[in-house]
Amino acid sequence: MASNGEPQQDCLFCKIVAGEVPATLVRETETTVAFRDINPQAPTHVLVIPKAHYQDAASLAAAAPQLMADVVREAGEVAALEKITPAEGGGPHTGYRVVFNTGSGAGQTVFHTHAHVLGGRGLEWPPG
Ligand code: IMP
Repeated sequence: MASNGEPQQDCLFCKIVAGEVPATLVRETETTVAFRDINPQAPTHVLVIPKAHYQDAASLAAAAPQLMADVVREAGEVAALEKITPAEGGGPHTGYRVVFNTGSGAGQTVFHTHAHVLGGRGLEWPPG
């Protein structure tokens, strides 16, 4: 799939950006959308995506580094909204993880860059 920033007809997350597929929005900026994962793996499981289509984090970072920075900043904004940052008392359920699965072998199933923001429970390391 192309990674030139143009919307892709067969891309689920491009359809969410266009409002053609419903999603539970958490935040939206000029360049990004954050919405709840349909199959949450933690009490907070939000996906932050660029509105422009890039297939994975590496191609986004290479082609549009400012947009990658927007996505990462928004991940932090989501964590703050969800009250899971370390500043929220440092208990066992604070702190969060930002994950970019990159490639099918690493679990990527939707080939439109997305940051998973996970938290609200203790998170194991190493991940599975
Ligand atoms: P990946 O496996 O890292 O590519 O992550 C894709 C994520 O998208 C998975 O966690 C899915 O549960 C999630 N997902 C798939 N379809 C939808 C949807 O329509 N709305 C919200 N999340 C979705």
